[in-house]
Amino acid sequence: MSDCLFCKIIAGEIPSNKVYEDDLCYAFYDIDPQAPTHFLVIPKAHIQSVSAVTEENAPVVGHIFAVIAKLAGELGLESYRVVSNIGAQAGQSVFHLHFHVLSGRDMTWPPG
Ligand code: AMP
Ligand code: ZN
Repeated sequence: MSDCLFCKIIAGEIPSNKVYEDDLCYAFYDIDPQAPTHFLVIPKAHIQSVSAVTEENAPVVGHIFAVIAKLAGELGLESYRVVSNIGAQAGQSVFHLHFHVLSGRDMTWPPG
């Protein structure tokens, strides 16, 4: 999608601090970290949010979770939280599916 920030990051049109990349997904550190470790994992295909996940495009979500587990292991994250905001009221500000991976501090529950 030409006007999507994360599609531009995937295309290299906007710089990012890359953690990992493969054919299906891209991971990069959040520009405004909310924990000592905070990165995002996104599908290369433009999907608006979890609300646009279907049986057809769902395999990339499973792949992303396998990548999250792999990266967490490589980064030595023993405890972490995976978050995806869906819709503005829930805090979504970029409308390209992404999973936040946050670690390195105590987390509260319920989230704000
Ligand atoms: P959300 O608010 O859940 O949609 O998450 C979007 C995230 O993208 C926020 O945590 C932002 O800090 C992050 N973000 C916005 N622009 C950039 C960027 N250019 N590089 C890295 N992270 C970004
Ligand atoms: Zn996009």
